[in-house]
Amino acid sequence: MENRAVNAVDVIRTKRDGGQLSDAQIDWVVDGYTRGAVADEQMAALAMAILLRGMNTRETARWTRAMVASGERLDLSSVPRPTVDKHSTGGVGDKITLPLAPLVAACGAAVPQLSGRGLGHTGGTLDKLESIPGWRATLSREEFLRQLREVGAVVCAAGDELAPADRKLYALRDVTGTVESIPLIASSVMSKKIAEGTGALVLDVKVGSGAFMKGVTDARKLARTMVELGRAHQVTTVALLTDMSAPLGRAVGNAVEVAEAVEVLAGGGPPDVVELTLALAREMLAAAGLPEADPAAALVDGRAMDVWRAMIRAQGGDPDAPLPKAPETELVRAPMDGYVSTVDAYAVGVAAWRLGAGRARKEDPVSPSAGVILHRRPGDRVRAQDVLLELRTEDPTRFPAALAVAEGAVTVTSVPPEPRPLIMEKIA
Ligand code: URA
Repeated sequence: MENRAVNAVDVIRTKRDGGQLSDAQIDWVVDGYTRGAVADEQMAALAMAILLRGMNTRETARWTRAMVASGERLDLSSVPRPTVDKHSTGGVGDKITLPLAPLVAACGAAVPQLSGRGLGHTGGTLDKLESIPGWRATLSREEFLRQLREVGAVVCAAGDELAPADRKLYALRDVTGTVESIPLIASSVMSKKIAEGTGALVLDVKVGSGAFMKGVTDARKLARTMVELGRAHQVTTVALLTDMSAPLGRAVGNAVEVAEAVEVLAGGGPPDVVELTLALAREMLAAAGLPEADPAAALVDGRAMDVWRAMIRAQGGDPDAPLPKAPETELVRAPMDGYVSTVDAYAVGVAAWRLGAGRARKEDPVSPSAGVILHRRPGDRVRAQDVLLELRTEDPTRFPAALAVAEGAVTVTSVPPEPRPLIMEKIA
């Protein structure tokens, strides 16, 4: 698209000076950046101007539309069931996709989940699943559609053809301090989900130390922006704001989180993981037009587990193979008698990352077996010297850096903390 009336420096100046970008400017700059006609340094300057100045509703909608238009939009019309996906803005110990996708499929919907890898202190769903021997993240378009039709749930890597503008821009934002912008996050997430072709979407917007959004006001604003963007693209979208001040469940890492997800699919697992899985499943089924389905029953009677096993096998994985186990462990113990008051999600996420569970650069490998096990959660009673955290790794030279952050992650007080609701509010 040649548009001689628009140029990158004018677009940057418009936003730098607090102006609104026109539709033509947005279409031109997003397309030009995808094709390489707008340089990285120009897009970096514009992203910083957007982070500092913001974008209004019209600009954000147009930006999202331009990012969707930068690639293909998948056609899921050959799938005979209603399609519904879930996106989490990222948290520590957030393995919910693993039990949720097969659970929702067991209740009659189809879940097309195109996922990413983890960067920094939050883990990626694909990294977790790759700890299952044989499982592969990359599927062809035909394999993806066949699995969605036959099994009802697919979690795999998003191909290069979906929202390529976002792929390039997200990598640039990551290294230019421009991730934390509500319009840029909202358009990034929603462009990928709209391009994926899902009919409905439930957003799990995390709030707290382990999340992008540390406070509820920003989380609410992000959720509202994403819900509006979904609706504007005919994707039925609702959001739950959920607490991420403490990690979810007891396991943080890759294989350890898969093991915990399998416990949930077997009808057990930590109560907070079960609660959130069921709450999101109910929202997804309602958004897909299946409000009568009973996900709690499908968890207990083994139907969700059957879909999990089929989903893992369809992607080359062996659901019965033992998961990798780290040989080296270190423990963090309680300093006194009392109650666990807080377990800082961010600190536990950083500890797991330093043990090898996460990556610093996107090309780094991750350790399947590294991670942190929470032996106690907020509200639990403890005696001095009880184990609070168990750190696991393949490489013991990683312990000092991980312990430096893990040792301050848990606070013990003489009085029990006020219980915090996990599900804070719904935005529809
Ligand atoms: N996740 C995304 O996909 N995009 C962002 O901008 C932030 C988190």
